[in-house]
Amino acid sequence: MLPYGRQSIDERDTEAVLAALRSDWLTTGPVVDDFERALALSVGAGVGAVSVTSGTAALHTAYAAAGVGAGDVVLTTPLTFAATATTALQLGAQVAFADVDAATGNLSLASVADALTSRTRVITAVDYAGVPVDASAFTELAHAHDALFVEDAAHSIGSTFRGVPVGVVADLTTFSFFPTKNLTTAEGGAVISPTPALVDRARAFKAHGIVRDPARYRNVEEGAWYYEVQSLGLNYRLPDVLAALGLSQLARLGEFARRRREIVRRYNEGLADVEEVVLPTDPVGTEPVRHLYPVLVERTRRRAVFDSLRDQGIGVQVNYIPVHHHPLFEDLGYQRGICPVAEDFAAREISLPLFPDLSDADVDHVIDAMRVAVAGRAW
Ligand SMILES: *Cc1c(COP(=O)(O)O)cnc(C)c1O
Repeated sequence: MLPYGRQSIDERDTEAVLAALRSDWLTTGPVVDDFERALALSVGAGVGAVSVTSGTAALHTAYAAAGVGAGDVVLTTPLTFAATATTALQLGAQVAFADVDAATGNLSLASVADALTSRTRVITAVDYAGVPVDASAFTELAHAHDALFVEDAAHSIGSTFRGVPVGVVADLTTFSFFPTKNLTTAEGGAVISPTPALVDRARAFKAHGIVRDPARYRNVEEGAWYYEVQSLGLNYRLPDVLAALGLSQLARLGEFARRRREIVRRYNEGLADVEEVVLPTDPVGTEPVRHLYPVLVERTRRRAVFDSLRDQGIGVQVNYIPVHHHPLFEDLGYQRGICPVAEDFAAREISLPLFPDLSDADVDHVIDAMRVAVAGRAW
C-alpha cells in the first residue's frame, strides 16, 4: 500500500542522530538549543522557538502560555485533528467552533467574527493542508476583542502568506514534527512566538515551571542545589537525539518544499480533466508547502471512490472527521450541523498520497487509479 504520507530520512539524518547518541547529552543538551535557534531563524527575524514532544504538546503549551483556563473559550475550526480542540479542554476551557471557507477548508474570518464573545480568550486557525490563513487579519480581530491568535501550523511549516513565512505574525504558532508532516523528529513539535513574554511562558510550561535564574527567585537561595517551581507545567522536553534529527531535517526543508510542489503540479495537470474531482488551488498571495493534497468528490460517491483507491493500493486518507462529530464532543452537547460548510467539505474530502520520496511513477499510478475509481470500476 502506497502511504498517504511518510518521512524522508537520508544519510545526513541518520548520522546526525548517531552523533547525538554518542554525545554526552541524550536530552537537555546543546542540540536542543541549536535546533530551537535554527528553527526560529528559518521562520524569521525576531521570533522565539520552544521545542516540545509533539504537535499536541505544542498546542497545550501555546494555550497555557496564552493563559487559557476555566471560564475561557477557545474558538476554532472543526476541520482539524482533534488535538487542536482537546488541548483547550485539558486546561478547563470550553471550545466553540466557527465554520470554514468552502474553497480552502480554512477557518472563515467572517464566521469567527460572528461567533466571538467576551469569553473568547483565543482564536485558533489551522493552515489546512499547508495553505496559510491570513494571520494578520485573525491577529487584528483577536486583539480587538482582548483575545490572542494561535495558528496551528502542523501542516504548513515553510509556507508563506504574501511573502511572510508562517510563524512570524500570530501571537503563537504551533508545529508538529510527526513523520507525515513537512519535516519530522519522529515525535515532536514546537511553539513559535514574536512576543518574548509568551516564549518565556511556553518555555516554563514545557519544563515543570522550573526557574534556575537567581535573579528571578522569590525566596532566598539556600545553596547550589536550589531552584524554584514557580508555575504549573509538565515535562514536554524534546530530547537531543530527536532535536538532532530536526536540525538535519530543517536543512532539507527547501528540498522537501520543492519536491512537494512538483508533485502538486503533477497531480494538478494529471487530474485536470477528471470532471468528478474538485482539485485544491492555492489562494492568491499564498505560497503553500502542501502537507496534504485534498480533493473533493460528491458526498454520495466518497465512500466508493475511497474504497476503490484503497483496493488499488493507494493509501488515501480523510482529513478530517469534524471534531464535534466525535463522541467526546457529542457527549458535551455539540450538535451536527453547526458548521455546515466544514461538514460538507469533510463529507467530500479524500487526501491523496503526498510526500517527498513519492516518485513521478507513483504519482501517475495514483492519477490512473483515481480515473478508475471515479469511473466506478474495481480492478
Ligand atoms: C498532526 C496534527 C496535530 C498534532 O500533532 P502531533 O505531533 O501528532 O501531536 C495537531 N493539529 C493538526 C492540524 C495536525 O495535523
